[in-house]
Amino acid sequence: MAKQDYYEVLGVSKNASSSEIKKAYRKMAIKYHPDKNPDDKSAEEKFKTAAEAYEVLSDANKKSRYDQYGHQAFEGTGGFGGGGMNMDDIFSQFGDIFGNAFGGGGFGGFGGQRQRTPRGSNLRIRVKLTLEEIANGVEKKIKVKRKKQAKGVTYKTCTTCNGTGQVTRITNTILGRMQTASPCNVCGGTGQMIDQRPSNADANGFVIEEETVSIKIPAGVEDEMQLKVSGKGNAAPGNGISGDLLVAISEAPHPKLQREGDNLHYDLYISLPDAILGSSVEIDTVTGKVRLKIESGVQSGKILRLRGKGIPNLNGYNKGDLLVHVNVWTPKTLNKDQKKFFEKMRNNEHFNPKPESSDKSFFEKVKDMFS
Ligand SMILES: [Zn+2]
Repeated sequence: MAKQDYYEVLGVSKNASSSEIKKAYRKMAIKYHPDKNPDDKSAEEKFKTAAEAYEVLSDANKKSRYDQYGHQAFEGTGGFGGGGMNMDDIFSQFGDIFGNAFGGGGFGGFGGQRQRTPRGSNLRIRVKLTLEEIANGVEKKIKVKRKKQAKGVTYKTCTTCNGTGQVTRITNTILGRMQTASPCNVCGGTGQMIDQRPSNADANGFVIEEETVSIKIPAGVEDEMQLKVSGKGNAAPGNGISGDLLVAISEAPHPKLQREGDNLHYDLYISLPDAILGSSVEIDTVTGKVRLKIESGVQSGKILRLRGKGIPNLNGYNKGDLLVHVNVWTPKTLNKDQKKFFEKMRNNEHFNPKPESSDKSFFEKVKDMFS
């Protein structure tokens, strides 16, 4: 299904100001809020879509990418890492949108007393992949040091906010006494604090543990691409949600093959006699060796295209090609006999170049390569 335009989702024009965008989103978030529309799937869908649109349009950097490339700007980033926004992402955005508008800092204005869900921090690692692994897809088992909740940690109600997760302050202003609320700093808004913890745990009740995480890497990833493994980052205090593990891809250089998008290039060197007489050579590909027939009379600079022997596209529909560039290798030194042999050939009219119209020029070959 085609994705709806983010501006249309929020019902604003393309040159809406950031405050107009915020206002429009606020309206939609209230209208379609799950507390107001229990068990209404279509309202929930609208609620999520609006949050996603706001996520992009409220961020100057994402907005300009979206304006330039549309939804494609984010394909391959959120597309396969679990994708989209979950409810916790959406609610964590609300502090920014609603501020104290609902008379108490929290989200109580919506009926359900929603405490802030703490999130653990993300972890970042880098994985080096060979071209073969990229071409075929691979599952990597990586050791990661994560912060985890120590066994034996017990909690008690936060003594600063009495478990509400909020602290209220009364200030005197020219308008009279005002009550403002903000998340409790001591418990991070969770309403719970650590009562007892084992000696090896830090102040948040965490220990660092090594864990082997299995990461499925789809075929076709590119250098510097980032994958997200949800929930494999650091733990959050209390009943919070663990952060994510962000996996950056590094592509190891291949000794024979050069990658260009989904296509691969291979520089083949053949001898003068092989070019003249024809031959059969073995070529490295990302799926093993293949035998390639070289026609007699092949011209140096010819490009042989092996269809589908490149890298699969990340979207899973197409495969790139392997382009084999034929280079005829010329010896740099000759002994006396060899020299005589070639001098004799030079005098033979048969060896004078006579390009045929079927021998494409260099520029035509380049054009072919990108078609
Ligand atoms: Zn507290």
